[in-house]
Amino acid sequence: MSAKKLPKNIIEDLIIYKLDDLIQSTGVCSCDRCRADIIAIALNKLPSRYVTSAGGDIMARMQSMDDQTQANITTAILKAIEQVKKKPHHDRGDY
Ligand SMILES: [Zn+2]
Repeated sequence: MSAKKLPKNIIEDLIIYKLDDLIQSTGVCSCDRCRADIIAIALNKLPSRYVTSAGGDIMARMQSMDDQTQANITTAILKAIEQVKKKPHHDRGDY
């Protein structure tokens, strides 16, 4: 099975790339549920940017992004973290 030809939202890769540092610096819970919630909330706040050649170098793609886009991604993640911190879903068990 190959998903290589499907368009991919590069913003998702960038969120995942930045996420660990931001989780560490904010001290938010880093369980799978909270991570997934943070990614979902941040993705919903950001415009999608689809690319067709998946699997490229994320660093190269990040560097080709303008500063404003990068700042928007960081801000969206921080807002998502704030939301999850206030109301974590990890103990509800209602996937
Ligand atoms: Zn959690």
